[in-house]
Amino acid sequence: SSHVAIRRQYCNPMTMKVTYYKKPVFIHQGHMQWLWDVDGRRYLDLFAGVATVSVGHCHPKVTAAAEHQLKRLWHTTSIYVYPPLHEYCEKLASYFPDPLKVIYLTNSGSEANDLAMLMARLHTGNFDILTFRGSYHGGSPQTMGLTSNAAYKYPIANGLGCTNTMCPDVFRGPWGGSHCRDSPVQTIRDCGCAQGTQTHRSRGSTHSRCHCMANEQYIGQLKETFATSVPSRIAAFFGEPIQGVGGAVQYPKNYLKEAYKLVRERGGVCIADEVQTGFGRTGTHFWGFQGHDVIPDMVTMAKGIGNGFPMGAVVTTPEIAASFAKGVHFNTFGGNPVACAIASSVLDTIKEDGAQQISLDVGTYLMTELAKFRDKYEIIGDVRGKGLQIGVEMVKDKVSRDPLPAEAMGEIFEDVKDMGVLIGKGGVYGQTFRIKPPMCITREDADFFLAVFNKSIKNYMDRR
Ligand code: PMP
Repeated sequence: SSHVAIRRQYCNPMTMKVTYYKKPVFIHQGHMQWLWDVDGRRYLDLFAGVATVSVGHCHPKVTAAAEHQLKRLWHTTSIYVYPPLHEYCEKLASYFPDPLKVIYLTNSGSEANDLAMLMARLHTGNFDILTFRGSYHGGSPQTMGLTSNAAYKYPIANGLGCTNTMCPDVFRGPWGGSHCRDSPVQTIRDCGCAQGTQTHRSRGSTHSRCHCMANEQYIGQLKETFATSVPSRIAAFFGEPIQGVGGAVQYPKNYLKEAYKLVRERGGVCIADEVQTGFGRTGTHFWGFQGHDVIPDMVTMAKGIGNGFPMGAVVTTPEIAASFAKGVHFNTFGGNPVACAIASSVLDTIKEDGAQQISLDVGTYLMTELAKFRDKYEIIGDVRGKGLQIGVEMVKDKVSRDPLPAEAMGEIFEDVKDMGVLIGKGGVYGQTFRIKPPMCITREDADFFLAVFNKSIKNYMDRR
């Protein structure tokens, strides 16, 4: 149709950031784990709009909740109290351990992290903020400064998102989730080795460049970095329980716990960025931090909270909220009635549909099968993640472990799409395929993807 023709004309890499730039995909409809393009082609969606569609595209229950609210009240601002806001905050708070019970609603993850940063500074009276290397925390000026992943920064000296940015206070953490040659501390990137030494040993032969260490050594380096490079007083530390954009990167055992301890010794608060890991995506727990045996002082979230509807939140303690209450906080759209009704229905649906269990079951199955590919193919360097937060790191070969070049990544990526599956790309070098589907996919869907992925790798190897 003509409107499709017009969109095709205007949609190019110069005007719009489209991932499939060779042959863009024009999506016009979605249902659960499926998307349809304007030509009627169906795709299995394994990226969920970047881990955002938590329970399924246009999930009937969530859609019904949205419709119901749309007919009653769209907007008032939080100057007034309205039932959906009240009910939602109460419900969301019940998902957190004490003392995490005070909720602020925003419209995105960046906004949530911006707010958390402000609250941490007001509460502690300190200014410096830490994050881990390879992290992603948002695209607003402040959160772009906080984000460590260089791929998402703009090369403007002393400006937006340059290595040390508008926030000269931002300090890069000691730990790296990308290519280990980049990291002053040789750490787990080459192994993705959350599981520690055992995993290293079992896969050691494929990791010639990697200086794999025992957990205690990683923790020793963390302590050393704090002792030598971290200011004596800090405001906060932000950590993703598993790095998302960084490529499903996990930490060694007890690493996050130790970081929390070191941060608190310096008067800082610990903030879990659950924008990607929350709402059951890791399978084993509802929140990613629960897999690390820590309780943060603040939790930020977005994406999966609204199943695709714009929303975010900061959850914190009454004590931190009291420090913040001294100022004025206003957010026109944050927690609007429609968002609250949707988010409330998302929480119910995750429970009713067993989405967290699906994450665990299908995620574990996918990782087991993908690990077989890793053992079989020279260009698959690592398979890692938890639940339906999976990274497949691609390398030129297992000796050099250099990232597979962007062109090759693009070829496989487009091939997978042409065979009917949408996945994501990430990692600091764009070398990691990311799988984070709506949490309603089935084993059959997983098998379909595995067959497609296998074929696309074979196709690439044949062409090489
Ligand atoms: N934190 C994390 C861990 C994220 O992955 C993202 C988005 N990719 C953000 C924050 C920023 O969220 P938003 O794009 O909604 O601002």
